[in-house]
Amino acid sequence: MCQGSAIAREPLSAAVRRAERARLRKVLRAEGYAVTAQRRATYDALLDANDHTCVEHILEAIQRAHPTWRVNKTTVYRNLDLFQALGLVREMRHEDGRAQYELALHGPHGHLICRQCGALFDLDPALAATVQHRLREHSGFAVDLAGHALYGVCARCATVRQGAVA
Ligand SMILES: [Zn+2]
Ligand SMILES: [Zn+2]
Ligand SMILES: [Zn+2]
Repeated sequence: MCQGSAIAREPLSAAVRRAERARLRKVLRAEGYAVTAQRRATYDALLDANDHTCVEHILEAIQRAHPTWRVNKTTVYRNLDLFQALGLVREMRHEDGRAQYELALHGPHGHLICRQCGALFDLDPALAATVQHRLREHSGFAVDLAGHALYGVCARCATVRQGAVA
């Protein structure tokens, strides 16, 4: 199981959810995939969470919404892989190989993760662009900050640590 964002996002509006459900159907059909109830439920779980979430949490949400269904992790993984391939979902890989997923509608962005408490923050895209620009100027290296996580210590854990030293 994972932690969501340290700063929770506002829930998606009914209009956005409707538009996203329609987009899922359209994209699946356009690419020749069936619009199955399981695929819809998987996407619904992501829309409901509107956060960085994991396979376990998505599976739990599907089982809560559809107690009679027999869904397993493999099915959820498969659907998430498909959504990724179709550009509907983005995956973030942790150092330990675990993955978290979020809706692609939030746009590509990097993440900051606290090694001590696991707090997760979206990396501000403007700040990421500045870092990318400076690194390219400095070393000619085009760093890819979206889809990856930068690890460190969050402000809260840093304060606690300082407090312990003082
Ligand atoms: Zn989770
Ligand atoms: Zn922390
Ligand atoms: Zn994110």
